[in-house]
Amino acid sequence: MRKWGKEIAVGVVPAVLAFLWFIGVNLIPILIAGLFIGVLIYMARARGMVGAGVKHTDKPSKPTYMTFDEIGGQERAKQELKEALDFLIKRDELHRLGIRPLKGILLTGPPGTGKTLLAKAAAHYTDSVFVNASGSEFVEMYVGVGASRIRELFKEARTRAQKANKDSAVIFIDEIDVIGGKRDGGQHREYDQTLNQLLTEMDGMNTTEEPRIFMMAATNRKEMLDSALLRPGRFDRHIGVDLPDKKGRLHILKLHAKNKPLAEQINLHKVAEESFQFSGAQLESVMNEAAIYALRDEAAIIEQRHLDQAIDKVMMGEKTDRETTKEERERVAIHELGHAISAETVRPGSVSQVALSPRGQALGYVRHHPQKDQYLYTKPFLEEQIMIALGGAAAEEIYYGGRSTGSRNDFEQAMRVVQTMIESGLTELGIVHSDMLSKEQWMRENRRILDELFSRTHQLLEERRDVFDRSLAILIREESLSGEQFRSLLATSDMQSPVPVTAS
Ligand code: ATP
Repeated sequence: MRKWGKEIAVGVVPAVLAFLWFIGVNLIPILIAGLFIGVLIYMARARGMVGAGVKHTDKPSKPTYMTFDEIGGQERAKQELKEALDFLIKRDELHRLGIRPLKGILLTGPPGTGKTLLAKAAAHYTDSVFVNASGSEFVEMYVGVGASRIRELFKEARTRAQKANKDSAVIFIDEIDVIGGKRDGGQHREYDQTLNQLLTEMDGMNTTEEPRIFMMAATNRKEMLDSALLRPGRFDRHIGVDLPDKKGRLHILKLHAKNKPLAEQINLHKVAEESFQFSGAQLESVMNEAAIYALRDEAAIIEQRHLDQAIDKVMMGEKTDRETTKEERERVAIHELGHAISAETVRPGSVSQVALSPRGQALGYVRHHPQKDQYLYTKPFLEEQIMIALGGAAAEEIYYGGRSTGSRNDFEQAMRVVQTMIESGLTELGIVHSDMLSKEQWMRENRRILDELFSRTHQLLEERRDVFDRSLAILIREESLSGEQFRSLLATSDMQSPVPVTAS
């Protein structure tokens, strides 16, 4: 409602005035009072006391700045960004060599990887004021309002830089795809106008003017952006901000551990290992949740178990109070042991925890820890992945002679891997484009791969039935088995040799 307040007022006030005039009310005192209030608001705004419609973070009362050292991991992105920013700083050199200065940098990458932090650090690095807005703030009901907000944003950046005695300002627009999507010239006239205004402002950004404006924007859907935004002279530098690798995760964890009392024996390397594919925001959340668990325990310091609980929470969601029957708990335990036994057999040392407590949507779960960050996958690796996913359903079949709805997500996961295999030319179909395949061909290949891997998983688990028998009661009693506990139960299995995962 607040968002539309200004637009509604623009329509309602003249209508009320016209009505009053129509019924014969003298409008002069009202107009004088209105003018007086208007002048007051204008003066308050000029002093920075009232928000100007666009949110920015460095309000004079609370200066917030960020340096590159406070951003964990992202070494390549930081390096690339600094290099680009050096162009801004070394103006004389640019001039000497006739280099066209950069106008805009686009940061692309998944949510929570530190794009906003990088933009803030860029402002600090170049000694500029930082003004930020999100693409969604420009989306309005009325045509032209978004465009006027863009003008306001640029004006605001210039005034703030002048007031702060800086000779440059960094404008950062998060979620640029909201306004910068491909123009179709059709239904979204308002969006088109907003984007046109942004392009006009960027074209008008004179690189010799004072204060200079430097644009930064972020998106995780670069392919959606209008090509006009990406052409040289606009956002012509693109920097990928990816999920951190293990070294980056450790760095981020250490940064967020700085203000927290940690027990001496805490192993942040282990946390970094187990938080594979976590974003910076999720890692910050792990440290924060661990502190909350310590508070709940009335502990003076954060211990390893608090961090372990926090990883589970960030990965799977909060523990739920969902009541389960004894039979359900037993089935869930069998199912999870099926995943864990297949995982540990095909990838020894990979299980970090088997848990039987309901969390998020799951009634139980197995936490794996990848031994290394990996970006390329071979066919045997993908087949192992499918076997681990099918382990739960295969175990249920062995014990109950049938499956349950508990395997739905596992099957979806397995089918996604099959799709990757087909699209990467790793199946009997050879090198194919997905458009070349009929539905029947997809189904046949999907089924062939899944049936074959299911029966291999079934056999693998059947041969280790004694591990189920030994682990089941302990898991039900203790609700969770650590990786080490589970491995010691598996080590005494009658059948210890790993199952060969040969190419099918
Ligand atoms: P979105 O795309 O959702 O806007 P973003 O990439 O801009 O996300 P940020 O807003 O920069 O992400 O990060 C959110 C929070 O996550 C930060 O305030 C910080 O606490 C933490 N964080 C993210 N990445 C890092 C990092 N590389 N180092 C330290 N903290 C990080």
